[in-house]
Amino acid sequence: MVSLFFANDCELVGLNNNLIYLYNFIGLLITLLLTTLFILIKKKYTKELDYLKQLAFYDPLTNLPNRRMVYDCMDYTIALAERKERIFAILMIDLDKFKPVNDTLGHAAGDELLQQVAGRISKQLRRRTDMVARFGGDEFIIFLDDITEQRIVEKIAESIISTLTTPFQLSSTDEVQISTSIGVSFFPKDGMTKEVLLNCADAALYQAKNKGRGCFIFHEYE
Ligand code: GH3
Ligand code: MG
Repeated sequence: MVSLFFANDCELVGLNNNLIYLYNFIGLLITLLLTTLFILIKKKYTKELDYLKQLAFYDPLTNLPNRRMVYDCMDYTIALAERKERIFAILMIDLDKFKPVNDTLGHAAGDELLQQVAGRISKQLRRRTDMVARFGGDEFIIFLDDITEQRIVEKIAESIISTLTTPFQLSSTDEVQISTSIGVSFFPKDGMTKEVLLNCADAALYQAKNKGRGCFIFHEYE
């Protein structure tokens, strides 16, 4: 519009063209700066959001999903198993006499042991749909989806007990040996809701502790 207005005056048109180039250049510069600023702010908040998600759903010590993530995922797992008419198992794992490790070797050694335990349990799970989480303290939980035979669960429970009985080498001390108890419940045999299924696995774990520890028990209704 401005350049048309001065169209008959060559000098003014020349000056005006320069001005237009300058305006365009400044406009481009501002656009570039704003775009860069927008990208940087977005990156920063995406990073912070990821960090908050990590804090909310993962255990910072072991990097495994936490109790909250377990509760969230269970609704989906139950809905899927119901729709596909599949069986899944919950293994509630609790280390035996873990408190004495803290008391004798210190909390840091206990933490290191929990990290190594998390690593060993994770290695026992082969399928992508299997999930391990830290439920709290020295308690871990495993979900085994699409179970066709009870024997598969028995084998995994046995292999977890065996791998956790192998002595652990901690950085600050000699070898440490522990044992583990496991309680197991099945969907849909033992219950149809996460609360019932977790209670059943917990009750079976309690029985395994009472039986002398270092073993697994499948939940049974009396
Ligand atoms: P039990 O054989 O009956 O399972 O007894 P336990 O000694 O293993 O003790 P219990 O399972 O009842 O309690 C777990 C203990 O784990 C309680 C607490 O002292 C310890 N603990 C919980 N969270 C942490 C943690 O993040 N780090 C460390 N080092 N210790 C923890
Ligand atoms: Mg324990």
